[in-house]
Amino acid sequence: MADWKKNDIIETLIEDISETGEGIGKTDGFTWFIKDTVIGDKVEAKVMKTKKSYGFAKLERIITPSPARIEPRCPVARQCGGCQLQAMSYEEQLKYKERKIYNNLTRIGGFKDIPMLPIMGMDEPWRYRNKAQFPWGLDKEGNIIAGFYAGRSHTIIGCDDCLLGVEENRDVLQRIKSHMEKHGLTPYDEASHKGLIRHTLIRKGFKTGEIMVCQVINGKNLPHKDELVESLLEIPGMTSISLNINTEQTNVILGNKVENLYGPGYITDYIGKVKYRISPLSFYQVNPVQTEKLYGTALEYAGLTGGEVVWDLYCGIGTISLFLAQKAKKVYGVEIVPQAIDDARENAKLNGIENVEFFVGKAEEVLPEQFEKNHVYADVIVVDPPRKGCDEVCLETIVKMAPERVVYVSCDSATLARDMRYLADRGYEAVKVRGCDMFGWSSHVECVVLMQNCGLESKK
Ligand code: SAH
Repeated sequence: MADWKKNDIIETLIEDISETGEGIGKTDGFTWFIKDTVIGDKVEAKVMKTKKSYGFAKLERIITPSPARIEPRCPVARQCGGCQLQAMSYEEQLKYKERKIYNNLTRIGGFKDIPMLPIMGMDEPWRYRNKAQFPWGLDKEGNIIAGFYAGRSHTIIGCDDCLLGVEENRDVLQRIKSHMEKHGLTPYDEASHKGLIRHTLIRKGFKTGEIMVCQVINGKNLPHKDELVESLLEIPGMTSISLNINTEQTNVILGNKVENLYGPGYITDYIGKVKYRISPLSFYQVNPVQTEKLYGTALEYAGLTGGEVVWDLYCGIGTISLFLAQKAKKVYGVEIVPQAIDDARENAKLNGIENVEFFVGKAEEVLPEQFEKNHVYADVIVVDPPRKGCDEVCLETIVKMAPERVVYVSCDSATLARDMRYLADRGYEAVKVRGCDMFGWSSHVECVVLMQNCGLESKK
């Protein structure tokens, strides 16, 4: 039992980092989660809340800084809910992320000799995001601000130049702000459901330089919109400008209706040689440089020579499918969201790729059905599931189909470890494991794994 009270001061050494990026320290076996700390920091912190065996405390003072500690580059790093690791050097973040994968695979997966290859870090860990969504609001003095939500809340922290986003964001926001001030347009207020200007969505094609601005409004019309369009067009690269109508009282950012104001309604970008059309409502990877590395590695692990049949489960807009199709005989993609499959088919057409076929549905339903009814087979199966990992029926079917290789792309190494154990117990061997950092300064890490069939007979 803890006899700590709120506002007590504790002293501890940070020894680990939690899933969500808080530093972890102990006092007499009691565990503390302390935001904005780095492994190796000796800190003084103020108790905020305690549970039976752990508590939360607020960083008050750093007694001895960790050698890995750096000065956060962003002025609002501590308030903003976006980055958790801005006080940790990038090199150290990569080590931490690699260790996280290793620990999960050994502790949860029970693997002993993990064939880990060095994590793929970013050459430039700043300004890597091609997409930003800024909410608008008022500060304490009543000035219009755009920014980001504070951690675990909807209080807006003013910041028009997020260092993870592109430099043009600031210019776009300043022009919208001037437009609001000039014409007396008010930012949307969640509590009262009043005010016109909701989020601004900005996207940039890194390879093409094309920029898209989509302004979400709580209403049917944006006063003097031609004037805003004219102003935004002065920004080099501006290709698509639109309004998104969202009059619902919801924290979902985008509504369903888009009104095009300028341009073709989309921007274009490339991952590798594959071209993508990105409209305001479509999904697209936010870190295209690292996506290319991650999916390039998946392609390498798939070991294609041109004659293979490949299944890409949880295929989204088909990024991996289209990558694979360039080197396979046939690729089948499965995805639960119908709009994503519309985009996937559109993207295939756009690139003249004809050896892909997409299914809308759950991987754990489509795959068994196709296997049992239509006797499909696979030389390689690629999976890229959401955080909760693969459904067991899906894994069971994979084992029945017995492909030569399974390539697992994962955004959560804990569920990856669980699923790898399932496959390892049924005839697959982990051959390669490699981390890839898609989200620097956050605690997330992606991972790609190759599992090789060692003896199961393929049901060709
Ligand atoms: N590789 C994809 C992204 C994968 S993210 C791309 O590049 O676009 C994981 C995807 O799994 C999401 O698109 C999500 O909608 C989908 N998904 C979630 N549960 C699913 C299920 N049970 N069956 C199939 N797809 C699912």
